[in-house]
Amino acid sequence: MKTYNEIKLAQELIRFPTVKTEDKGIMKFLSRKLAAIGFKCKIIKSKGTGTKPALNLYARFGKSRPHINFLGHTDVVANLNNWKIPPFKAVVRKGYLNGRGSQDMKGGVACWISAASNFIKNNNFKGSISIIISADEETTGYGCPAIIRYLKRKGEKIDFTVVGEPSSSKSVGDEIRIGRRGSMNGIVTIYGKSGHSAFAGSYINPCTALAKVISKLKSLSLDNGTKFMPPSNLEFTKMNVDNLSENVVPQSASAKFNVRFNSKHKSSSLKKKISRIIIAAAKKEKCRTKIEYRVSGEAFFTKPNKEIYMVQKIVKKVTGNLAKLNCRGGTSDSRFLGSIPRLELGLRNTTIHMVDERSPVSDLKKLTKIYYKILENYF
Ligand SMILES: [Zn+2]
Repeated sequence: MKTYNEIKLAQELIRFPTVKTEDKGIMKFLSRKLAAIGFKCKIIKSKGTGTKPALNLYARFGKSRPHINFLGHTDVVANLNNWKIPPFKAVVRKGYLNGRGSQDMKGGVACWISAASNFIKNNNFKGSISIIISADEETTGYGCPAIIRYLKRKGEKIDFTVVGEPSSSKSVGDEIRIGRRGSMNGIVTIYGKSGHSAFAGSYINPCTALAKVISKLKSLSLDNGTKFMPPSNLEFTKMNVDNLSENVVPQSASAKFNVRFNSKHKSSSLKKKISRIIIAAAKKEKCRTKIEYRVSGEAFFTKPNKEIYMVQKIVKKVTGNLAKLNCRGGTSDSRFLGSIPRLELGLRNTTIHMVDERSPVSDLKKLTKIYYKILENYF
């Protein structure tokens, strides 16, 4: 049985310029690599950013449970000008692997596949190892949900997922994410009645109502936070009144807001609460309202369980660090995993999305070791 070296594999992956949802042959390449060590591979299409569909990969080794899964992505962000070393050359120099995706997150994908190949070769075990690779984490985010729908149709159950996003900060494994806040955007439009501003009583000013709505929503306390997440917060990000005249009261006024909410809330109940306040405040001013919402992600949280403590222990053994469990960071495909218990642990995020992205080779070695031990301890 073959095994893969994490550095060599990471270099091979970086050389595919998979910007946006471009595939460039990377999923076929990964399928070949995984099939050679016993994985059954399935490429699942989803809507791409261009005319071609995005290609995502689900690969599974074994049929039985327990079933541990790895979630990652192979797409990379652009920002490709003014690099010292061309972004897709994947050169190792002075102890660093250079290239777009070295940290976010082809490096992490390579570490997991390398660890899995070695683990499968050296061990007899009962259970399954799988890997989900999406092609659009940085853009549209349709790939991971498409795979989750496929798994549902097939009746496949994942017991635990390691999300390989670059979660580490100063050293590999210093932080482990166990959840993420939710994010929801809203647009509120208030309709009054326009009129000449000299004739009070003949118009209904939507600006007054909007100001009151904003003040009401800003004085609302949503919660006091949780042990791992700060209090939920609603913030207005834009106010707009289309009005070219100084002496005409406008017909409508609108504002945009964003809510970052912790695991005490679901977007559905938040919407109800917020809408009720808006409608009541506007009604007092005799105004009508239109409220639109777009949910970017629900809050999720895995209560520290035996797998999470096990990983924390492994990190301590390999790196000497006691990993901080937290819910920081930007959004990731992890938000699509529903109720699957999970954590996020990957390389450092010091150069992600930047010019000259790079990762110390020693980080990749460490992460592979950690992933290997996770498999060893999980089964
Ligand atoms: Zn990423």
